[in-house]
Amino acid sequence: MIGRRMIPEHPSVPDTIGPRNPCDAARLPCGAARRVLVVGGGVAGLSAALELAERGYRVTLKEAAAVLGGRLHTRDERLRTGTFRVEHGLHMWFWQYYNFFDIIRRLGRERCFRPLEEVYYEFKAYRPEVVRSVGPYPFNVINVVRESPNLSLLDVAGARGALGDMIRYDHDLNHRRFDDETFEAWGRRARVSRRFWDIVMAPVASVTLNDPARVSAAEMLLYMHLFFLGHPRAFRRLVATVDHGTALIDPWVARLCSLGATVEVSAPVAGLLLEAGRAVGEVGSPARHDAVVLASDVGGLHRILAGTVACDAASAAALAALRARLRRLAVAPPYHVLRGWFDRPIRRRPVEAVIETPQHRPINLIAIFSMLEEQSAAWARERGGSVVELHLYNTPELGGLAADVVHESIRGQVEQILPELRGARALDLSLGAFQNFTSLEVGQGKSRPTSDAAILAGIPNLALAGDWVHTRYPSALMERAVSTGREAANHILFADRVREVPLSAARKRGPGVLPRFG
Ligand SMILES: Cc1cc2nc3c(=O)[nH]c(=O)nc-3n(C[C@H](O)[C@H](O)[C@H](O)COP(=O)(O)OP(=O)(O)OC[C@H]3O[C@@H](n4cnc5c(N)ncnc54)[C@H](O)[C@@H]3O)c2cc1C
Repeated sequence: MIGRRMIPEHPSVPDTIGPRNPCDAARLPCGAARRVLVVGGGVAGLSAALELAERGYRVTLKEAAAVLGGRLHTRDERLRTGTFRVEHGLHMWFWQYYNFFDIIRRLGRERCFRPLEEVYYEFKAYRPEVVRSVGPYPFNVINVVRESPNLSLLDVAGARGALGDMIRYDHDLNHRRFDDETFEAWGRRARVSRRFWDIVMAPVASVTLNDPARVSAAEMLLYMHLFFLGHPRAFRRLVATVDHGTALIDPWVARLCSLGATVEVSAPVAGLLLEAGRAVGEVGSPARHDAVVLASDVGGLHRILAGTVACDAASAAALAALRARLRRLAVAPPYHVLRGWFDRPIRRRPVEAVIETPQHRPINLIAIFSMLEEQSAAWARERGGSVVELHLYNTPELGGLAADVVHESIRGQVEQILPELRGARALDLSLGAFQNFTSLEVGQGKSRPTSDAAILAGIPNLALAGDWVHTRYPSALMERAVSTGREAANHILFADRVREVPLSAARKRGPGVLPRFG
């Protein structure tokens, strides 16, 4: 086993959102047959399905792809040198993923994760940075600057305008205040120095899978709060020591099945069927459901809404309202994930297993899988080689290219960052080409619906979940997907007078200027 396990215990969770109906029963009464259709088998759909199935609901989960997990999926790939478990791409679980860690604990999967205490950056124009958070706020931030080979306290003083917005983060006002301007425009307005921008700000936008020049300031301030400033340990991350499927998705699905859920793959839902203002099932299927959770990605959402059929005037009015509400949601540009099995070993300090490379476009992140996961480590040991994954975000120019062509086009840059691979042969390559990431562009944050947007539009038994859904507390990415999945389940539980599941959340406000010890 690589490394030791460690899921944070969170001695004091910043915020707990209790059930609206604490006196209701903990689950459906025996014999009550309530059927729920969950559309989408990413972590949002799996989260909703788990809460409902545990409370006695008959859940049917339908996933369009051949594997479950959505952007956290793992597929089996037969390549020249073996059959490998290949993920959609490296994922990391951050300290403030309270609801996701709750699921990991409930599934008993803590042993499959280990912490990465530090973040490692390689720049073109600056020396590498190892960022670690030591001590309470604001000493942890001061320490980051003190340990930096590139930054001085003068740089920080020069960035005080920007830092002011960051430490005074207010989740209730954030999108109203900052979603109309790009992150870059905000940085210029705050007169952030080039050096501070390059080393502290730009790296955050670089790993959003969006075009950094178009990303909204509000979304980035939320990221800064959630992943850096909102908690002294906020940027402590966990990585899986086995593939994401084995670590999480497979046991999650097994738990659902053991609770009686029906889980279908290669089962795209073309549209929903609305009758008398309620979502009763999917187009083309006779099965009827008491409630529906729509947990697809944004592209799937628009296709499903386009294919949804309203059988009467009340349904048509509600559907029109919902379509209007969700119309502006967009998808980020295409991205690529290239994994290579190389005939040269890479031996680095543990902190360098994940390298963020904000100035090496089109490479945004490098994950040395032979230092992270057991199967890759075993392959590397046996072959005297290494397994490396390259994340190439915002790369429409690579569309349609074969894996070896993509590799050739970036080989020089890879070797610059990883000189160990100079002259190395790629024994196997696997390329994932996708366009399914949530847009974080200007205006998107303000357009996001809440998980009850369909209910508010007049469809009382339809709930929304996914990382494109707004939460009234700070959340993003996988944590938002899992949290909104739980919210979606809660809307259904509430309507059925079953006690809602509590949610844990990050603080809604930035740390301010005074020291904070929790
Ligand atoms: C390369 C990469 C790295 C990432 N790294 C991190 C990270 O380190 N930390 C982090 O927190 N997040 C990370 N993310 C983001 C994270 O993957 C997502 O935020 C999260 O997985 C979203 O989950 P979801 O359930 O909302 O959506 P998805 O995972 O997209 O799931 C939606 C599912 O709905 C299905 N679907 C769509 N249409 C239909 C239909 N008509 N019928 C049935 N099913 C349908 C899709 O096939 C998909 O499986 C990363 C993402 C990528 C791509």
